[in-house]
Amino acid sequence: MLVDGFGRVHRSLRISVTDRCNIRCFYCMPNENVNFLPKSEILTFEEISRIVDIALQLGIEKIRLTGGEPLVRQGLPDLVRMLSCRTGLKDLALTTNGFLLPGLSQELYDAGLRRLNVSLDTLREETFQRIARRNGLSLTLQGIATARQVGFQNIRINAVAIKDVNEEDVIPLAHFCREHDLHLRFIEFMPLDAENQWEQELVLSGASLRQRLEQEFGSLRPVADTDPSQPARDYWYADKRQKVGFIDSVTEPFCGACDRLRLTAEGALKNCLFGHDDWSIRQLLRNGSSDVEIAELFRQCVASKKPGHGIDEPSFLRPKRAMYQIGG
Ligand code: SAM
Ligand code: SF4
Repeated sequence: MLVDGFGRVHRSLRISVTDRCNIRCFYCMPNENVNFLPKSEILTFEEISRIVDIALQLGIEKIRLTGGEPLVRQGLPDLVRMLSCRTGLKDLALTTNGFLLPGLSQELYDAGLRRLNVSLDTLREETFQRIARRNGLSLTLQGIATARQVGFQNIRINAVAIKDVNEEDVIPLAHFCREHDLHLRFIEFMPLDAENQWEQELVLSGASLRQRLEQEFGSLRPVADTDPSQPARDYWYADKRQKVGFIDSVTEPFCGACDRLRLTAEGALKNCLFGHDDWSIRQLLRNGSSDVEIAELFRQCVASKKPGHGIDEPSFLRPKRAMYQIGG
């Protein structure tokens, strides 16, 4: 088992399959001149598959594929097919901006994927362009609709809520998700953007969003059986029509129950989004190391995990990598 110095058992691995993306959200990527990794440095599907086998032996049970935008990685359904049949894997999920779901939903579903998170911060094209610095809100909306048509259920919607950017979208997004039976989750803006625009004042706290939602929909009731290792705290709307969740990473950190590890597209293992250290699995994979040696690297990475990310501490230093280089 992967247990750190604070007794946290690690069961979840987020795998970034690429640092590339078809849009340029300001809270994640630079707008221009992005230095993407060369193809030779990115893990192959076979390498990812081997790492997953080792991770499953170590007690990992949940895998989320992410990026960058995971669907821009050529042949992603092939990786899904390779992973979805692994015994011991209880949960395989994908986080996407949805742009390529119109063409790929069926293939992903047929490959065995059942869980989807789609990022959608606004329902207004103008605000979408302000955030993503590219056009295409309609593609994301079409992607969600296609995913539902091919059979995806319980689709989650991720919305990063940012002061003076998409504040006005909070209530419309909630109405939209209730009407379309989608589970909305608001994520606080974290200091992981590539252009250093993050400021504490831009963070719309989960508590303030809950207040706004309660004014519109009545009181929210915490969902009783929420898994404590889940980053989101889920609530039922008063009419129990849907749930809404809040990932309050900045104002109410949930590090105490964190069970996550991350693998970057170039094969660096990380024990925290905000951690400064990497453990290169790729180097071991490519120098002929054994599974036992790779498992030992997992253990070292977990053993070095700090109790919390420390965003609210004066000594906090942003990690060198931005979100698209780690995998959200
Ligand atoms: N491209 C995919 C997408 O956007 O869903 C997957 C990768 S993206 C990095 C994963 C999630 O991280 C998205 O929901 C995105 O909104 C969120 N995210 C990116 N940068 C963030 C930041 N600085 N603070 C909070 N959430 C962020
Ligand atoms: Fe791309 Fe996702 Fe980052 Fe937006 S959040 S730039 S969609 S990787």
